Amino acid sequence: AGGQDGEVGKAQRAAAEVGTEPTIFSRIIARSVPATILYEDDECLVFRDVAPQAPVHFLVIPKRPIPRLSLVGPQDAQLLGHLMVVAARTAQAEGLSDGYRLVINDGKHGAQSVYHLHLHVLGGRQMSWPPG
Ligand code: IMP
Repeated sequence: AGGQDGEVGKAQRAAAEVGTEPTIFSRIIARSVPATILYEDDECLVFRDVAPQAPVHFLVIPKRPIPRLSLVGPQDAQLLGHLMVVAARTAQAEGLSDGYRLVINDGKHGAQSVYHLHLHVLGGRQMSWPPG
């Protein structure tokens, strides 16, 4: 959904609150909020998106709470690479042999709504381009 009252509005409001409190994803890592977890290791967690935008839609997050992609530095390169490798492996495990899409939303214009870095993996249907 788009528009001020949809995902974009939610994202813009979230941008105003960056860093003021732990996000819902920290609570998922701590297991104080339930999630359907697909994979976990020391550095990352993979779980299904609660509002799937495709037949398969899961999120890959670092356990270290980096708020957004635009804040990463060279010291994060290994972790970011690991997240992509895990995304690809999990997509394979989910049967996405015809392909899938990886998305990282950053900040207000990217319509980011949760300020804990995450990779979206979407698949199981034909995607279109350009994105909205
Ligand atoms: P963003 O717009 O890139 O920040 O995406 C945040 C994503 O997190 C959205 O696709 C939401 O549906 C998803 N999300 C928000 N809260 C939860 C939750 O508690 N569990 C799983 N996914 C969530």
